[in-house]
Amino acid sequence: MKLDYQNIISKIYADLIGKENLGKVPDYIPELACIDENKFGVNLTDLEHNSFGAGDFKQKFSIQSISKVFALSFVYEKLEEKLWERVDVEPSGNAFNSLVQLEADNGIPRNPFINAGALVICDVLLEICENPKDELLTFIRNLTEEDDVFFNEKVAASEMQNSFRNAGMCNYMKSFGNIKNKPEAVIELYCHLCSIEMTCKQLSKSFLYLANEGKEPSTKKQILSSSKVKRINAILLTCGFYDESGEFSFLVGLPGKSGVGGGIIAIYPQHYCIAVWSPKLNLKGNSYRGMKFLEEFTTQTGESIF
Ligand code: GLN
Repeated sequence: MKLDYQNIISKIYADLIGKENLGKVPDYIPELACIDENKFGVNLTDLEHNSFGAGDFKQKFSIQSISKVFALSFVYEKLEEKLWERVDVEPSGNAFNSLVQLEADNGIPRNPFINAGALVICDVLLEICENPKDELLTFIRNLTEEDDVFFNEKVAASEMQNSFRNAGMCNYMKSFGNIKNKPEAVIELYCHLCSIEMTCKQLSKSFLYLANEGKEPSTKKQILSSSKVKRINAILLTCGFYDESGEFSFLVGLPGKSGVGGGIIAIYPQHYCIAVWSPKLNLKGNSYRGMKFLEEFTTQTGESIF
């Protein structure tokens, strides 16, 4: 028997609204600091396309690193296993924007979800696409079945002006030969990728292929092979929350991905995707309330991969 997800979501939402909202909105991307920090939205979409939401789930926000999952899916389908020669699949145990392991690892990022890894994925996109920005947007729009998905040029520009760390990583990886294009072009694409805006509702729908062995449930289109989806979910579980991936797995028990815009997506394979948005971040750069919500959700439903 299916649980009453709407009731569970609404109750946890109401409970958390009444509690302290700790953390901080990031200010290293100035344009992101303007957001109302009390925004809070949740949406779950299941494989039958039933949708359950609460709060600001129809409002767009900056998905930031959640977009790394789209970019990885797009590139992995095209490059197959060759991709792993340029980026590894190990948890980093470090912050998302850390440079520290790159020297010891000869310019091979630990995984595709830390910034260094996503920069390599952007470099690959520049190699294999005529127009990577358009092709990525089309990929995402097909998943959401809506044309209403765009880059936020202001956010992209704001990040570009402050991308000293990302530029450092990109140049450093170039010195090892693991970036083929001009670092400026890679950063420009990376900042656009991070600037994509979507709602919780769009996110929970668009990632259903990860809960459905690679198939988009309504169109039945195979986005990725089931073996690739298994692998992406494995990397999400072990690396999706940087040096808090163990904690997320421990508290929530689902593969997922966060972004510094305050969004989190989590996948319950064979069942649904759930997206949460609350802009205040904990010290590891993950949404404070988002983590709390999902911890409570999997506790109350008893649904996790374990
Ligand atoms: N655009 C952000 C950055 O590069 C993405 C980081 C994140 O969402 N964790 O720092």
